[in-house]
Amino acid sequence: MSPCEIVVRFCRTALAVLAGWLMVTTVHADDPPPLRPSQTTALNAISQLEGRILKANRQIWELAEVGLEERRSSQVLIDELRKEGFEVRAGIANMPTAFVATFGTGSPVIGILAEYDALPGLSQKISDTRDPLSEGAPGHGCGHSGLGAGAMGAAIAVKQAMQQHGIKGTIRLYGTPAEETVIGKVYMMLAGVFDDLDVCLHWHPGSKNEVWNGSSKALVSAKFTFSGEASHSAGTPEQGRSALDGVELMNVGANFMREHLKEDARIHYVVTNGGGQPNVVPPEAEVWYYVRADDHRDVENTFKWLTDIARGAALMSRTKMQARIDTDCHELITNAPLAEAIQKRLETIPPPEFSQDEIAFARRLQQTYEVDGRPFSTPVDSRVQPLKAIGEHSKGSTDVGDISWFVPTCGLRTACFPLGCPGHSWQNVASIGSTIGEKGIVYASRVLAATTLDLLETPELVAAAKADLKERLKDRKYVTLIPDGQKPPRGIR
Ligand SMILES: [Zn+2]
Repeated sequence: MSPCEIVVRFCRTALAVLAGWLMVTTVHADDPPPLRPSQTTALNAISQLEGRILKANRQIWELAEVGLEERRSSQVLIDELRKEGFEVRAGIANMPTAFVATFGTGSPVIGILAEYDALPGLSQKISDTRDPLSEGAPGHGCGHSGLGAGAMGAAIAVKQAMQQHGIKGTIRLYGTPAEETVIGKVYMMLAGVFDDLDVCLHWHPGSKNEVWNGSSKALVSAKFTFSGEASHSAGTPEQGRSALDGVELMNVGANFMREHLKEDARIHYVVTNGGGQPNVVPPEAEVWYYVRADDHRDVENTFKWLTDIARGAALMSRTKMQARIDTDCHELITNAPLAEAIQKRLETIPPPEFSQDEIAFARRLQQTYEVDGRPFSTPVDSRVQPLKAIGEHSKGSTDVGDISWFVPTCGLRTACFPLGCPGHSWQNVASIGSTIGEKGIVYASRVLAATTLDLLETPELVAAAKADLKERLKDRKYVTLIPDGQKPPRGIR
């Protein structure tokens, strides 16, 4: 080796050491991990798929089918998944609109959840004033049109990355109907549809870009039917027994019970049958109850008390009472390793920016809610939120909760709605159909796809998520109030 070569080698070595030192000093432990090639492939795939994702959102948004009637909406997703080579089983768990789409074989098996049910009476155009697309028809006030479309996009992008990079494992998209009445996933879980799943991911349109690492309320939904005797209300009232009396007495009893429940309890009811007309003593009447609490054990106790009240009401009104539990949904079990994994991807993948027109539209939607002229500060929030402390309870319920008792589960929300517009509102129907919602849907697709690939390519992450679930549930047992073998209801009413 000549002196000149020695100098060149020395310089190269010195440069390599310097480059290594620069890497060490510029990549901090807290920095989000860079994207792997498979993830770059998936993100590029989503850019290619964007038109199909947004078309699916628009189609499902326009169809606006309520729970258990989402035949055409579920078909929109099934058609796209079949086109991509997913094997689809439709009509599973005794629900015509439930499906599971699978690509790949073996473990790990990573699932992504899709929903597509709309809400009654919320039909709305993409407009900042109340203007139904079809008077009295349902609308996507919870954004499930985008939820289904975004989840589908993520599953297809992951499948393309798996094929291109030879990644082993299975990706599943679960088509879960009737989330708004917390029916679909509960009965799918009881039917064993999620039994071989290693990790479950989900997302929901929201007003911020954030990990969904809070819990939710457990909920039992039940109908109490009272039967009496019809009679002329004026001519022969002594021969009548009013089923409506039974319903009213039950409601009075339930409202007295409220005082003695824990603060996190929620009870709400609607009278679904109150009789025909005043001059006929109502022979049949029905009331539909939701009982909620942060802990399923409290729901069990309150529901037992409520059923006693219904029996008491039947005794007082000399009627007969029958209770039917439609569904029993559990609180969401959070998962720390999964929450951290999603947070990292939210931070790695840049969130969408909103245009001045979009911000102005969001502001006008917000203004429909201004109280005393006080505007909300930010119309639509494009920032990624820091990871919150795990386990905070939300006031709502989701049937994702039931899966989370058996499979490590975590999700995210992305900004699709203006801040301050409440869930289940016509304002949110307008927003999820607009380009604001569209940007949030595509962002969710990207983060879900990247996180799914983290799980497929990092066995330690799957193992950590499983260990976390085991630890959280070590003192708990899944108890359901749904009678053994009961099939799901055929409709939401
Ligand atoms: Zn929802």
